[in-house]
Amino acid sequence: MATIVIDREQCIGCGACVDVCPFAALSLEDGVAVVNEQCTLCRACLDVCPVNAISLPEPVSQAGTPDRASYRGVWVWVEQFRGEPRGVSWEMMGEGRKLADRRNAPLTACVLGHGVEAIARQAVAYGADRVLWADDPVLAVYRTAPYTRVLVDLVRRHKPEIVLLGASLRGRDLAGSVASELHTGLTADCTGLEIDPESGLLRQTRPAFGGNILATILCPNFRPQMATVRHRVFEMPAPDPGRRGEIIPVGTELREEEIAVRVLDFVVEHGQVDLAAARIIVSGGRGVGGEKGFGIIRELADVLGGAVGASRAAVDAGWIAYEHQVGQTGRTVRPDLYIACGISGSIQHLAGMSTSRVIVAINKDPEAPLFRMADFGIAGDLFEVVPALTAEFRKRLTP
Ligand SMILES: Cc1cc2nc3c(=O)[nH]c(=O)nc-3n(C[C@H](O)[C@H](O)[C@H](O)COP(=O)(O)OP(=O)(O)OC[C@H]3O[C@@H](n4cnc5c(N)ncnc54)[C@H](O)[C@@H]3O)c2cc1C
Repeated sequence: MATIVIDREQCIGCGACVDVCPFAALSLEDGVAVVNEQCTLCRACLDVCPVNAISLPEPVSQAGTPDRASYRGVWVWVEQFRGEPRGVSWEMMGEGRKLADRRNAPLTACVLGHGVEAIARQAVAYGADRVLWADDPVLAVYRTAPYTRVLVDLVRRHKPEIVLLGASLRGRDLAGSVASELHTGLTADCTGLEIDPESGLLRQTRPAFGGNILATILCPNFRPQMATVRHRVFEMPAPDPGRRGEIIPVGTELREEEIAVRVLDFVVEHGQVDLAAARIIVSGGRGVGGEKGFGIIRELADVLGGAVGASRAAVDAGWIAYEHQVGQTGRTVRPDLYIACGISGSIQHLAGMSTSRVIVAINKDPEAPLFRMADFGIAGDLFEVVPALTAEFRKRLTP
């Protein structure tokens, strides 16, 4: 984060700023005031400094990044958890590769962590021309401050034109933090990325105004152009183990004692639904009629070895938990088979499932909008159709 600026030559080490800081952001080291990341730029210290050694950072110029023409290349942050790379990062690599080729520029993967060299090699297989590989015990577990510091530092040194991150919990956190530190724009939860043929800018498309329109956003004045994309919006590329790329170790200069957050433990929440990973999803909407109605949806999902999804109408009615919600404000899914039962097909629901490989719609209204997108439509009462399908699949699939 931005902090106040202390002129070490001017500072007389009187400690007045330390006493007045409400956020414990200042201390004295070797007789000189130093500031840490707790600083909120509240200005309390500015007025008490008797020698005017403290100032605020330069305001951001509205004219944009001054040397933006020198920014080049596409970067993807490769997320990992306990040494396991996240699928969304490889999806971003696939898309990053296309963008880099369009810009005639290299694709760089940023792999941060501890003991993650294997992931750096995998990044090459997934399309990276080079990998910036930061290995440090402080980076073993994701925390905003050290990850931001390392990524910001790398961006300032190497000046990429585009930086992409997966819109996971960590990716969203890191993207916002890095973008604000670099004073650049960030488009979250994009559903499409392409290069504008005339300007060469990144066209970042995402739903806006409650999902009723798709907005294409440009970041013409600031660099890098930053975007996040949710898991399963883009296709997973096939890795090529024979690909060659450069793996460049980068130093970090992190010190554990400077990081305010400690991770004490991880607690696994059981019974969570991993909709994003499901190959088959059977979803219920308002047409299911109530909590009990989800019984037949669950039975069909069980027989097919799939997961249960839902529309927001069903979630809002309290028939099923939010973690099952598919759509703009729920999960984005891309299963091989999506069976929608009693779901009309609002634009917000489609935003979360339209890239499913095969879509089956079951609805008693033959004019339901979802039929227009579905590969197979069954116009009928779901309370007759769904149990009939379950019985038939059970017959065919049970050995
Ligand atoms: C900002 C915003 C974000 C949103 N995010 C999401 C989101 O993430 N996900 C989402 O789903 N929605 C979202 N919505 C809500 C969305 O606009 C719709 O209201 C919602 O998707 C409707 O759910 P539904 O299709 O189940 O209900 P309805 O639109 O009421 O459709 C119910 C369907 O069931 C059919 N039906 C009824 N009985 C039967 C039966 N016995 N057999 C067969 N068919 C039957 C009806 O013909 C009808 O087509 C969002 C809205 C906004 C404004």
